[in-house]
Amino acid sequence: MALIVQKYGGTSVGTPERIQAVADRVIRWVQQGNQVVVVVSAMSGETNRLVGLINAIDPDGSAREKDVILATGEQVTIGLLAMALEKNGQPARSYTGNQARIITDAAHTKARIRNIDDQAIHADLALGRVVVVAGFQGVDSGGNITTLGRGGSDTTGVALAVALRADECQIYTDVDGVYTTDPRVEPKARHIPRLTLEEMLEMASQGSKVLQIRSVEFAYKYDMPIRVLSSFDEVDNAKSTLVTREEEVMEEVMVRGIAFNRDEAQLTIAGVPDQPGVAFRILGPIAEANIEVDMIVQNIGSDGLTDFTFTVNRGDYRRAQKLLQATADAIGAESCEGNTGIAKVSIVGAGMRSHAGVASRMFSALASVGINIHMISTSEIKVSVVVDEKYLELAVRELHAAFGLGDEGGGA
Ligand code: ASP
Ligand code: MG
Repeated sequence: MALIVQKYGGTSVGTPERIQAVADRVIRWVQQGNQVVVVVSAMSGETNRLVGLINAIDPDGSAREKDVILATGEQVTIGLLAMALEKNGQPARSYTGNQARIITDAAHTKARIRNIDDQAIHADLALGRVVVVAGFQGVDSGGNITTLGRGGSDTTGVALAVALRADECQIYTDVDGVYTTDPRVEPKARHIPRLTLEEMLEMASQGSKVLQIRSVEFAYKYDMPIRVLSSFDEVDNAKSTLVTREEEVMEEVMVRGIAFNRDEAQLTIAGVPDQPGVAFRILGPIAEANIEVDMIVQNIGSDGLTDFTFTVNRGDYRRAQKLLQATADAIGAESCEGNTGIAKVSIVGAGMRSHAGVASRMFSALASVGINIHMISTSEIKVSVVVDEKYLELAVRELHAAFGLGDEGGGA
């Protein structure tokens, strides 16, 4: 008997009919002899609606109260799905994050899971029940409701799979897996049947919206295979993307996919003293405010002064800008500027390790269509550039073609 964790995203539970279809699918897996734990998101649009309500009262309001509000969406779906299962004769039980003892740190709206108590869930499974757990939410050690950041139900799914020692974590969404890039931007994008956890980590961190990055980090750390599939496909002939360890992915391509992220903003502080400790003075307060910094560039100093440019999530831009302005005033910097009209485009592939010239091919492709690059960063298996947001689509399509991703065989 296998233990399967299945996570269903917002569109998969977007209507009562869809919830009923999920119940049917779950029951099929149970009838095939599996134990099933289901993690669900809020119904599609619901979390956005809650964010809208919050912003209508106070966008800068208490993060604790934001979580109280945001966590309600998933509570509705666990109850509805458990009811749908029971109506069809399948014993089921819903659990909120608190009831499942999903203990997180206290970083409201982007909490991290620390521990999950698997006993009650195992006991229910042993009684033949399907366990339905609310994604996206947990509780801190003080009993406060927390949420895991947008898309956080994926992380609940993977974390539960790890805690329960599940055989597989299936992530059901409205697409049948991971594509070489977003098909809405490049219709020639191709389905990827298998990729490595490391590649998925880069795809997710570079903005591919299929899986939340933290879920992939979890899977990578604990070596949990993830299968991404569509809840809109036929149960028995579902196409999927399996994300596993590198050794298990045989096919070596240079570039596996193109990821992009519009959700970034750039900040520059110019004319700061070029001295030891200056990076810490500038970025320390940003880190302390729990704002993630992505790319960082420091220019070569001249006349004892230097410039710093870095990127943050657009949602953190206003806060980061205030903090940076305060630092600029304190150290007497020349200026402090920001730009929210940027986007990041990345090429990702484990095969880059053994191929030279990948970055230059990327730069030449962008140059050929006259796109200016503002920032560059690289790792072993990716190259990212920041460009003007208005050129994002063009950049993605150009790179997709330059690396042969649209062709049969792809990944030249
Ligand atoms: N409902 C939450 C969101 O929309 C969490 C999730 O769906 O993963 O971000
Ligand atoms: Mg999602």
